[in-house]
Amino acid sequence: MFASVLIANRGEIACRIARTAKRLGMRTIAVYSEADRDALHVRLCDEAHPIGPPPAAESYLVAGRIIEAARKSGARCIHPGYGFLSENAEFAEACAAAGVVFVGPPPAAIRAMGLKDRAKALMQKAGVPVVPGYHGDKQDAAFLKQKAQEIGYPVLIKAVAGGGGKGMRRVERPVEFEAALESAQREAKSSFGDARVLVEKYIAAPRHIEMQVFADSHGNAIHLNERDCSLQRRHQKVIEEAPAPGMSAALRAAMGGAAVKAALAVGYAGAGTVEFIADGSSGLKPGGYWFMEMNTRLQVEHPVTEAITGLDLVEWQFRIASGEKLPLTQAQVPVQGHAVEARIYAEDPARGFLPSTGTLVALQFPDGVRVDTGVEQGSAISPYYDPMIAKMIAHGPSRDAALEQLASALERTVAAGPRTNLALLTALCRAADFRSGVFDTSFIDRNPALLGGAEPDSAAAAFGAARLIEQERARIEQNLSRAADEPRSPWDATDGFQLSGARVTALPILLDGEPAEARVSYGRNGPAVTVDGEGSAADATAIEAADAIYVLRHGRQTIVRHAEAGSGDADHTDGDGQIKAPMHGKVLALLVGEGDRVEKGQRLAVIEAMKMEHALTARRPGRVTGIAVAAGQQVAEGARLMIIEGEA
Ligand code: ADP
Ligand code: ADP
Ligand code: MG
Repeated sequence: MFASVLIANRGEIACRIARTAKRLGMRTIAVYSEADRDALHVRLCDEAHPIGPPPAAESYLVAGRIIEAARKSGARCIHPGYGFLSENAEFAEACAAAGVVFVGPPPAAIRAMGLKDRAKALMQKAGVPVVPGYHGDKQDAAFLKQKAQEIGYPVLIKAVAGGGGKGMRRVERPVEFEAALESAQREAKSSFGDARVLVEKYIAAPRHIEMQVFADSHGNAIHLNERDCSLQRRHQKVIEEAPAPGMSAALRAAMGGAAVKAALAVGYAGAGTVEFIADGSSGLKPGGYWFMEMNTRLQVEHPVTEAITGLDLVEWQFRIASGEKLPLTQAQVPVQGHAVEARIYAEDPARGFLPSTGTLVALQFPDGVRVDTGVEQGSAISPYYDPMIAKMIAHGPSRDAALEQLASALERTVAAGPRTNLALLTALCRAADFRSGVFDTSFIDRNPALLGGAEPDSAAAAFGAARLIEQERARIEQNLSRAADEPRSPWDATDGFQLSGARVTALPILLDGEPAEARVSYGRNGPAVTVDGEGSAADATAIEAADAIYVLRHGRQTIVRHAEAGSGDADHTDGDGQIKAPMHGKVLALLVGEGDRVEKGQRLAVIEAMKMEHALTARRPGRVTGIAVAAGQQVAEGARLMIIEGEA
């Protein structure tokens, strides 16, 4: 075995590789970009080397920097993880030239499978069934359209250099062909620097079934069963499982055999995945699956295979790279129970899966499931890399048991800060059709209700606003116990809530960044808070951070904070520091005096209109001057109440 490994990756996969490497007694060497200086993978490894600025193109993708770090640290091998340089044949060659073992297939095998068109041609020759279509060199629009006609609609246009679902367009009818071709080519050119495409049959009710293969450098190859990755969004995997629902032992042997044939045809060694698309319209069946592509690396979803086989695939990668033979024969590969993996992403399913960045103000995972992650509470999800927070893997005796275990663990996961897809993942695990095994790759698109509404969760907002009020009260009590000559604190004057005799107070809040209003009424049992008519939720969790209350409810996050000027209440403070009345009403209380210093967000006055109280707050720190009103006075909308002079 190798004495040391340089892990040319980051995040959860770098941590995952380090774990096995340590168990095998290797010295672990991390590399990191400036954005990852304090990352978990850096701390987990025995040593770490900087490789440049945050953008991957200037750090994790710069082969020279990584080879240099390997030289400096005396690394005996380089594990590329997945993504980044893992499928880069030149990098594999550069490693060899530098005398470091590349933990992956031979460069020639990477090249053979690197482009989808060439890979398909190769597989066809090797007798592996490929998706019917045109994967030749001709690229003119009229010719490709003619081919589409011969293939029969619907067709799929695919970038030959594609990956991650990019450069792919489904075309339903001939009239849409030209526009789809153009946009696929444009995306392919900008994503991969290669505009070439292929056209293939769009398989009905498609199921994504892939086979994990392993080969050694002694000519042996086996498969480690299949994974079903049909739950996708934008052609990217969301939930993966093993075995595939409806897979028979005979079909597994046939598909596994085809995958092994594919690996042997390109002189493969190490871990690889042969992806097939299957026609799921009437269950998995012989003759109903076709080769799509081969990923010449470890796959994100490899843990489900590890769960059902009890094997450590990263260990196998190291063993094979160091020249060992495959540790098992095909007949010895186990299948135990059922495993499901969910990819927890910092993204917003309700808003087109928009990635969400920022600090993870809370991150806690329950016990009883495997969690692979590269971040922890306090880490930032940066805009530079894949926004995955973690992978969660459940393993049970049956598919139902595994799905229920995963759903329950997802439900108990606490992640606050960036938005997450936790609610969607939980709903997917519990969706009746998915549970019964009736699904294909369009399942998520066909069930938009699973994505959750973009509407704010008012009950969660009311829950958060109630917490804000509690915080406020705690602060008042603290302030009251301080010496009387100390400067006034923002919350000294919250008696504004009660002094008016009004039954309802309007507290301006920011709800997910948008101005909103919490209504507070004081009864015998303390304040009762509503937002948009909804009372406070009983089933929510609040994370109290310095800047806001993060309310988690049903896997969804609602951020509640005090409305500060510059956002919600811009209309009663202008750039000159003038505080104006937002409406006709009565000044119930002046909470500051002439010459007082105020802090940003500090409440200045309370105005009542239509039995509602509205607090006016300072947009910036400064000194109060020019108070133009007195408590009890009626004011007109837009009337100047005071000025906050900014500090020099
Ligand atoms: P594919 O979609 O090609 O079948 P995967 O689902 O395993 O393969 O991964 C998709 C791609 O997403 C990977 O090739 C990789 O580039 C990228 N990716 C996903 N997660 C990460 C991560 N944590 N770090 C780096 N790259 C990642
Ligand atoms: P990538 O390199 O982006 O992973 P793939 O060729 O593996 O590209 O395709 C990604 C996804 O697109 C598949 O998992 C599947 O959901 C869908 N897809 C690909 N080819 C077909 C096809 N011929 N028919 C239906 N769906 C397909
Ligand atoms: Mg793929």
